Amino acid sequence: KDRLFGGLSKTSSRLSENLTGLVTKAKLDEATLDDIEDALIMSDLGPATAASIREKLAGERFEKGLTEDAVKQIIKSEIAAILEPVASALEIDAFPRPQVILVIGVNGSGKTTTIAKLAHLFLEQDYGVMLAAGDTFRAAAIGQLKIWAERLGVPIISGPEGGDSASIVYDAVKQATATGIDVLIVDTAGRLQNRAELMDELDKIRRVLGRLNPAAPHDIVLVLDATTGQNALSQIEVFKEVAKVTGLIMTKLDGTARGGVLVAAAKQFDMPIHAIGVGETLDDLRPFDPEEVAAAIAG
Ligand code: GDP
Repeated sequence: KDRLFGGLSKTSSRLSENLTGLVTKAKLDEATLDDIEDALIMSDLGPATAASIREKLAGERFEKGLTEDAVKQIIKSEIAAILEPVASALEIDAFPRPQVILVIGVNGSGKTTTIAKLAHLFLEQDYGVMLAAGDTFRAAAIGQLKIWAERLGVPIISGPEGGDSASIVYDAVKQATATGIDVLIVDTAGRLQNRAELMDELDKIRRVLGRLNPAAPHDIVLVLDATTGQNALSQIEVFKEVAKVTGLIMTKLDGTARGGVLVAAAKQFDMPIHAIGVGETLDDLRPFDPEEVAAAIAG
């Protein structure tokens, strides 16, 4: 919990700074509401969230003389209300096993690290985990995933650089099925520069998976880097077209003042958010608790 608050502290101080001095009157007038709305937008919460918070503040200002603290409380509960409906943990409930989780996202988003963190989480829940190195375009990605697999003590299926990712996934599902694995986590290439190729590749993986198990992939998780701010939102837009994204994980919420983008994403896309990354170690994948996250952001 402390790590979550510590992680989001830059986002929270950014919001506080933006709001500082805005609430000076007992009653909020229109101009002050405008300023607060701007401050919320500048804090990356997005125009829609800012507008809905403004509306709440406008509604309550006549009942209570609003102090800065009271304003923050309202911001916090609005954020929690926005996050509540999208909070959704990744549950392992596929039958037959294995549950196949495809992980997608642009290079550098924290995809590999997130796969390792997820594997760690499922191991802690006593599930049998296997990794598949489906990002065959980067030798470094294959190597990195192997290092994580070794550290975690889980099997990994990989092929040569430039190899066929669909056939790696095919082998992985076969082996996972044969050895009673519960969760197969598949890394995929993150080349958004060539959208058509990426789409083809993901389609091929889906076809191969579907032949082995019509329900697979059970999850298609998009990993997003919070430090990219609004860019993370455009990535959701694009990946939604490339693949049937079923949920999001936002990384690097520590060390950025742009954590508000998490709220903007929830408001704009109504897509499940599974967890958030607040650091580089295996324990730094936090379950997505709306109340906690809202409190950490609104301070
Ligand atoms: P990939 O290219 O998408 O597979 O990205 P990586 O998993 O290799 O991560 C890129 C960099 O971001 C690495 O240095 C990771 O340690 C770092 N990283 C990943 N997730 C987080 C996070 O939640 N917080 C921080 N601070 N760093 C992260």
